[in-house]
Amino acid sequence: APAQVVVIGGGFGGATVAKYIRLLDNSIKVILIEPKAKYITCPASNWLFAGMVGLQDLSVDYQALTSQYGVQVVSSSVTSVDTTRRRVLLADQQSITYDRLIMAPGIDFHWDRLPGYNQELADKFPHAWQAGRQTRLLQQQLQAMPAGGLVVITVPADPYRCPPGPYERASMIACWLKQHNPRAKLIILDAKTSFSKQKLFEAGWAKYFGYGSANSLIEWHALTDNPIIGLDAKTATLETYFGDKFQAQVLNIIPPQQAGLIARQTELTDAGGWCPVAPQSGLSTFQDNIHIIGDAANYAPIPKSAFAANSEAKVCALAVVSLLNQQPLPEAQWLNTCYSLVTPEHGISVAGVYQLSTERKIAAVPSAGGVSALNGISNQPQLEANYAKSVYRSLVADSFA
Ligand code: FAD
Repeated sequence: APAQVVVIGGGFGGATVAKYIRLLDNSIKVILIEPKAKYITCPASNWLFAGMVGLQDLSVDYQALTSQYGVQVVSSSVTSVDTTRRRVLLADQQSITYDRLIMAPGIDFHWDRLPGYNQELADKFPHAWQAGRQTRLLQQQLQAMPAGGLVVITVPADPYRCPPGPYERASMIACWLKQHNPRAKLIILDAKTSFSKQKLFEAGWAKYFGYGSANSLIEWHALTDNPIIGLDAKTATLETYFGDKFQAQVLNIIPPQQAGLIARQTELTDAGGWCPVAPQSGLSTFQDNIHIIGDAANYAPIPKSAFAANSEAKVCALAVVSLLNQQPLPEAQWLNTCYSLVTPEHGISVAGVYQLSTERKIAAVPSAGGVSALNGISNQPQLEANYAKSVYRSLVADSFA
């Protein structure tokens, strides 16, 4: 019988690995299990708040994986993994065996870290950190907000999905407020003392939103010594350790995160809640024959991004094909770029190239990456805004088409 690979999750990681295994060796049978018929990308979902895109523009399906690459797509979710018998059990009671299993279930939230907050309250205080209904909910709340209202975004400590995402979101919301609700204000309450591309974001905020002045549209508060200790859900008020209160009209709580449930149930996670892997193969350090890619896995210092999930998927595809063909593992290299928009016409970026050090740990290749110049050529922000849009299109095509 041909070798059989099962992939759990049809996000950027899972779709890419399924496609690339078939491209590398079409004698391998690849079964991708994903409950959603359509996947809505988190990348570019912040652009919705500035009115640049709609959810339908961010929606992809699995047609091409099936018709172009011969991936068998099963529309269900995995409820458990029997690691001894090497099979997955689906919600519809079907079971599927595997020679190798690849997990790419993305993230789950820690719902219990903030007193007063719980999972049900995500409908009232949307995280919008999984794109779709939650994104629309947050957009509707912003559009319905009274004149001069306050938007608060809470940002967790590292590691979490998409390090620059909260700040791009603040930028996109500010663009919309500046036009439609100019007396409104947006406050970012951060569990960190610094953040991704901070100087570039702050320079952009100063240019467009008065950042640093008394009536800046955006404020950023690092609350490391004065953390948020509670939420009064009735009044949408956050309280900090020293008694500061922030009453929001729109409250975007982005909870701390961990690997998706199925990874935790399969005992692939460590105390930090993420799955440790041997990076060259993506193999779990806890279970045989299971590889993990994407946000659920720990590939630090590579950040949790769709671009990185796509890159991890390609390295993993090569490794799985090599292992199934009794070949040695190829040398691994990973890429990441994260573009963010400060306005629809002003883009900034960070890029990194990674390989294994002599200790076989992932390390950034010196001088191979970096961030946008703070004072580059005059039309650089405009160029980078265009690159952001084309990188998005090519990443989606490379993963799903
Ligand atoms: P996901 O994309 O979350 O996919 C996981 C899939 O697994 C889901 O479809 C889910 O339904 C499925 N699944 C889960 N459990 C099961 C199960 N038990 N059985 C079957 N299926 C299951 N990254 C970038 O590179 N560039 C950006 O510009 C960017 N912008 C972002 C903006 C925002 C606002 C956010 C929130 C994120 C952004 N990201 C960006 C990050 C990016 O979205 C994630 O890093 C990426 O989606 C990770 O891919 P993944 O495959 O690991 O997980």
